[in-house]
This record gives sequence, C-alpha cells and structure tokens, in this order.
Amino acid sequence: MKSAVVIGAGIGGLAASVRLAHQGYQVTVFEANAFVGGKINSKQLGRYRFDMGPSVFTCPQYIKELYDLCDEDFGDFPYEKLGDSFTYYYPDGQRFTLPNGREALLDVIEQELGEDRQSVVAYLNKAEKNYDRITPLFIEASLHRWQHLMNKKLVTALAHLPAYNLGQTMHQVNKRAFRNPKTVQLFNRFASYNGSSPYEAPAMLNMISHLELNDGAYLPAEGMVQIPQKVKGLADKLGVEFRFNERVEEILVENGQAIGVRTAKGTHTADVVFSNMDVAFTYEKLMPKEVQPKKILRQEKSSSALVFYLGIKKTFPELGVHNIFFSEDYKSEYDHIFKKKEVYPDPTIYLNITSKRVPGDAPESCENWFLMVNTPVNVGQDWEENTRYLRQVMLAKVSKALGEDITPLIEVESVMNPVNIEDWYSGKMGSIYGNASNNSFATFYRHANFSKRTRGLYFVGVTVHPGGGIPLALNSAKIATRCLEEDLQRA
Ligand SMILES: Cc1cc2nc3c(=O)[nH]c(=O)nc-3n(C[C@H](O)[C@H](O)[C@H](O)COP(=O)(O)OP(=O)(O)OC[C@H]3O[C@@H](n4cnc5c(N)ncnc54)[C@H](O)[C@@H]3O)c2cc1C
Repeated sequence: MKSAVVIGAGIGGLAASVRLAHQGYQVTVFEANAFVGGKINSKQLGRYRFDMGPSVFTCPQYIKELYDLCDEDFGDFPYEKLGDSFTYYYPDGQRFTLPNGREALLDVIEQELGEDRQSVVAYLNKAEKNYDRITPLFIEASLHRWQHLMNKKLVTALAHLPAYNLGQTMHQVNKRAFRNPKTVQLFNRFASYNGSSPYEAPAMLNMISHLELNDGAYLPAEGMVQIPQKVKGLADKLGVEFRFNERVEEILVENGQAIGVRTAKGTHTADVVFSNMDVAFTYEKLMPKEVQPKKILRQEKSSSALVFYLGIKKTFPELGVHNIFFSEDYKSEYDHIFKKKEVYPDPTIYLNITSKRVPGDAPESCENWFLMVNTPVNVGQDWEENTRYLRQVMLAKVSKALGEDITPLIEVESVMNPVNIEDWYSGKMGSIYGNASNNSFATFYRHANFSKRTRGLYFVGVTVHPGGGIPLALNSAKIATRCLEEDLQRA
C-alpha cells in the first residue's frame, strides 16, 4: 500500500489526510501539539469556553466536499447561518448591525451610511462576479501548473480584466465606490481577512466581502473547534493514524526525493510527504540543507494578532456574535502594523462572543469575550509591555462604547500574543497567514502546493497557495492532492 506522511494537523493537514486516505494512501499525521486543528484551538477557563483562533466561518461547501468524498452525511456537521453579520461601532458613537440577507443589508447601509442603494448593489454584484470568475483559477487550482489554468475559465476570467481594477488598491477602489468614509472603512476591513493592508493590497481582494455580505457568516453548533474535530472524524473513519505530541524534526530527502520524516522517536518512511507547517519553517527547520526559495520566503509577512479571552459576568444584548470597534484613523493604524511594526494606540477591536449562539460556552447571564486587535509580526518588540498597554487601551475603548466599565466584570482571563502564535503553532514571526498580500504580485509569490526541487514533497495550509483563511486552507489540500495525482500519472 502507498504511504503518506502529513506534518501538522491544522485544517490544511487534516483535509490533506482525508484526501490522501481517499486516494488509497496509508496516512500518518504527525502533530507537535496534543490536539488537532492547529490555530483552530479551544480553551476552557473555569466555566467559560473560548475558540482561540478563527471565529468567522464562511464557505461551508468546502467542508461538505470532504463529507461527499467520504460518502458521509453532511448533516452530521451541525452549523447555522447567523442572522446578523457584524455589529459596527464608530468612534463618533454611531452603531449599527449589518444583517445577513441582501435587502435588509442594503436598507441598513442606505439608512445608516447614506449610500446610494444602486451603487452598493453594483459593488456587491461585482464582488460576486469577480469571485465566481477568479475562484476556479486562483483559489481552486494551482497557479503553478499550466494544465490547471488552460481552460475556458481562463478565457472568461481574462475577458473581464477591467473589472479587477488591476494596479489599484482596495482602498482606492472603495474610496471611489462609496460616499461615506465610514463605508469605505467598513469595506476596507476585508483586507484583514488575509492579514493585509487595504492601502496596499490589490483591489481584486475586494471580492472577499462577497463571502460575508452576499453569502453570509456561519457558525458550527459547538463553536469553530468543531470544524477540525469533524474533519478528524472523517480521517479516523478512513483509517488515518494520528501521532500527537510528536514534532517532525527533519524531512528526509534522498536523491531529490522525499522519503519520510524524522522525529525524536525515530524515522518514518513514506512515499510522499505533505507539510502543513508554515512553509518558511518547513524549509528553515526541516530541510535546512536543501535549496531555499529565497524570494518567496523574503516576502513581507501578514499581520499577527493579540487576543484577550475574557469571561464576563454580564450579558450585553446590544452586542452580537461579531462586533467591530473601529479606529479613528484606519490608514495610520495599518501604517503602524506594516511600516512601523508598532502596536497602534487606537486599534480597531474585534469582539467575538460565541456564547450568544452556543449557550454552553458561558455560564448563565455571562458571556465569553474574544477581544482581538491586529498587530505587527514579532520583530523583537516588548510583547509583555505591549500586552499590558493594549489591555488597558482595549478595555477603555470598549467600556466607553458600551457606557459601562468592563474591568470589574472580568471573571477569568487569558491572552495570546504574536510570540505565542509562533511558539504554539509554529507560525513564523507569529504571522497568521504567512506572506501578506500587500502588492499586486503577492499571489504569485506564495509557495506552490508542491516542491519544484524535491519529488514527493507537497505543501498545504494558509502559508502556501491559495492563501489565508479556512476555505483557502481546505482548497490547498484539494490542489496539492490533485498535483500528486498528476505527478503519479506522469511518472
Ligand atoms: C487569532 C486568529 C484569528 C483568525 N481568524 C480567522 C477567521 O476568522 N477565519 C479564518 O478562516 N481564518 C482565521 N484565522 C486563520 C486560521 O488560523 C487559518 O485559517 C487556519 O486555521 C490555518 O490552518 P493551517 O492549515 O494553515 O494550519 P495551522 O492552524 O497553522 O496548523 C499547523 C499545524 O501544524 C503543526 N506543526 C507545525 N510544525 C510541526 C512539526 N514540525 N511537526 C508536527 N506538527 C507541526 C502545528 O502544531 C499546527 O497544529 C485566524 C488565526 C488566528 C491566529
């Protein structure tokens, strides 16, 4: 029987393990931690449970694909479409909630932000069309294999080049599309979904808003942690072996072919090796003697994050599952994150409260607060001091917006900063998504899903093509296993 090793049980590694097992491989997954899911991790603090990483779930169809592949009933994956998308708080005190659903959403944008309804419709339609044209080529296929690209979809995509506003940034296009600077800020926010700056990221990425505003935001019945747990369930049924607390220390290469891995417990040979470890660390730590793709690894990193997990002894009916407290000067905030590499004194704060929909996540009359800000990656800043500072800034800002001092309501508390992200999940410099998309060619500087030099070596996860976020990590596994199939046919 053919054998495969997967390094890491993040969502990309889990999806790869399912697809490889489905292709007939005997799969062994080595995971440095004691749990599956990588950054889709969960924490229990007293009576409160927290999703520690991702909280916005879009594109459930990519999970369904794995269920379909395994002939399993997708009904076994309980999730709901949220009634509301986000509640927004602006520094001048304005607050509104964007509902899921086109007409209701347009009503709010028209009434609260004074936008012309038809302009917003045109913007959202364009985001959807761009997404539909680009996805089959840039998100569901390899950019590094001509046979993935040479089809009718390429012709369709190329026929609409002007719609992508090439050479312009997200902000430039949004500034022209909307009257109100608050609407511009709201739509600029989607750059953060792959850890980039709207003032540098290509306008094409405005299509990210389509996923949340046209399609909607979802939540698994027991929180985000259910996503990796359920995918592991599929892998288990296919006989995938998981070895937890076993960090891979080296990828073994012989005559240009990956032949297995070495861990502290010994060597493990395999026909193919899939790495879900951050691609920069895969090269640096697991194959330092091999030729490094320096240009790719030198690219600017995506942002990192600092998150406080707070058990709050009160409920706030005005808050939803997803809440944003905007900064006054968004440009300055992103300059701090990417140019100055400093934490910003008036950060945009994201507050996620799963207990609004998952009652078991907090005791009665209490809420589990996930309070996050985007930060620069770790370049040696004093994160102890930054954490102390941001705690005070964030609590003061949210307290002001809600008209109530939050600090005395905190029952339990914990924190994750960029150094923790690097230590706990092996994310280089604490970057959440590997390379940032802060220039027009960034997508071409993401590592391919296969090695061009080492046969039998493949890459999955958000640090490689097609990029950041759970849906894209799931696609990375689809593309990598397709590349493997093609390589076998050619051999
Ligand atoms: C605070 C935060 C908020 C986020 N919010 C969102 C969101 O709302 N929506 C969204 O879609 N995404 C979000 N993300 C990004 C999200 O984490 C990714 O979308 C996705 O979970 C990353 O998956 P991955 O496959 O790249 O692997 P990772 O989650 O990075 O997992 C990699 C795994 O490999 C293991 N590993 C690494 N090296 C080794 C080794 N040498 N040997 C064995 N095991 C190893 C690690 O322990 C880890 O388990 C967020 C991330 C963070 C940190």
